[in-house]
Amino acid sequence: MKILVPVKRVVDYNVKIRVKPDQTGVDLANVKMSMNPFCEIAIEEAVRLQEAGTATEVVVVSVGPTQAQETIRTALAMGADRGILVQTDDEMEPLGLAKILKGVVEEEKPDMVILGKQAIDGDNNQTGQMLAALLGWSQGTFASEISLDGDSLNVTREIDGGLQTIKLAMPAIVTADLRLNEPRYASLPNIMKAKKKPIDEKTVADYSADAAPRLEIVKVTEPPVREAGIVVESVNELVDKLKNEAGVI
Ligand code: AMP
Repeated sequence: MKILVPVKRVVDYNVKIRVKPDQTGVDLANVKMSMNPFCEIAIEEAVRLQEAGTATEVVVVSVGPTQAQETIRTALAMGADRGILVQTDDEMEPLGLAKILKGVVEEEKPDMVILGKQAIDGDNNQTGQMLAALLGWSQGTFASEISLDGDSLNVTREIDGGLQTIKLAMPAIVTADLRLNEPRYASLPNIMKAKKKPIDEKTVADYSADAAPRLEIVKVTEPPVREAGIVVESVNELVDKLKNEAGVI
């Protein structure tokens, strides 16, 4: 079984985001970039399936600038076998991206694609679903557990207030939720080994996908600044403030 894992390079989750003064987007100058955390979970799951002898090859793909090679190398250091960089400096929207990924799937013919449930920069939560629709494949989104069951795949999904287990016909799309696993740190020997693993370089034109933008970002703004808290002297004062100032009781 071959698994394809799309990964995105995003602003590191520890970085405090700064909005550009003209409100057109987020300032990326000198900002630490890392693999999207949900993509790390997707890679970890694919590598575990390979270690268990279920998967035979794990291929990682990223659509983005040349620097996305570093993100692919991180995935290779975690255990993926080879990488594909679809180089573009354009900001991708989920539909255009899903069309490119469809081209990659048609070329690579994986049995399963595991994506993150969402990228923490755009919070779109759309790419896996759109890819499944374009391919006509079954999909298990927000997966917290997956297991192969003959020719099918059982996916346990995190839904409101509980868990739902579904059986998918293969080939299938899975999107990884937070509790699917805890991704490993790449060891130094594996980081060294990853340097020798191949990364194919492609362009958007190689997949003849119409990735033209359909959306225009009108503006990006910072969240409102939270007011500082205060220390109250007594329970009575707390109740008084909740009643007469905050108006919540
Ligand atoms: P999104 O739909 O943008 O929230 O992203 C969901 C998932 O789609 C991510 O966790 C990745 O697995 C995949 N993805 C998003 N953007 C890219 C990209 N530029 N290159 C490769 N995979 C991506």
